[in-house]
Amino acid sequence: MPNMNNKVILTVASTGSSTTRAQARNLPMTPKEISEDAYECWKAGASVLHLHVRDDQGKACMSYEKFKEAIERIRDKCDIVINMTTAGGFGVSNEDRIKPLDLLPDMATLDMGSMNVAGDFVFHNSLQFLEDGARRMQELHIKPELEVMDLSMIYTALRFIEKGYIDGPAHFQFVLGMHNGMPATVDNLVLMKNLLPEDASWSAFGIGGRGHLPILLGTLALGGNIRVGFEDNIYLDAGVKAQKNVDFVERSRKFIELSNRAIATPAEVREHFHLRSY
Ligand code: ZN
Repeated sequence: MPNMNNKVILTVASTGSSTTRAQARNLPMTPKEISEDAYECWKAGASVLHLHVRDDQGKACMSYEKFKEAIERIRDKCDIVINMTTAGGFGVSNEDRIKPLDLLPDMATLDMGSMNVAGDFVFHNSLQFLEDGARRMQELHIKPELEVMDLSMIYTALRFIEKGYIDGPAHFQFVLGMHNGMPATVDNLVLMKNLLPEDASWSAFGIGGRGHLPILLGTLALGGNIRVGFEDNIYLDAGVKAQKNVDFVERSRKFIELSNRAIATPAEVREHFHLRSY
């Protein structure tokens, strides 16, 4: 059971940690804005929302209250699958990164290793954090999305699966094109995909205007799932910014249909990953 037959899971990463309003005028930031944006994307066919929240100053955070309000507002409006980050905000403790899982999102990300970002700043994902996060997700029946920015992170994930910290079939998200991570090339995509267990499913995206489209098209060609949205990229076309997240969803739908596949509905994603019923 690799990826769903002929179906593509389309994830919208609407907000992220670092995109600003100066870059994307309609970046959703408050729980209300995030829920309205998610609803618009859901109406256009998006399967999954990758959820980050911001504090009242617009900075990335792991506020339990903000996540709670965002999840409640989204669930009031639609059945989009909610995939919550465990990596929002800088300098947040491991406990505060894991705590919002108590809100029972359908899925949550686990970044399978640390990486250098800039200067003295390291994106910390210690083995202890990963083990605690993975175990908490198992207890709460939350499907982990294993984010991978570098090859070594795949091997860490494989060890976690072997040790039973992550239930199979595992689901991976390849993040290509981060500074100091793997560049956004189709060669890298193929290399990473071929390292996965046979029963794993996977999704991928390239960061930024240059990397985004080649990875999106390459992923569709290779039978993977895709992720779009302001967290990863603000450009719809060379030099042309998207107005809203839904612009990416609509364009993706065309690509998916041209590749003779269809977008998975939230219900199909829930069934595929054995998520809690909505
Ligand atoms: Zn994210």
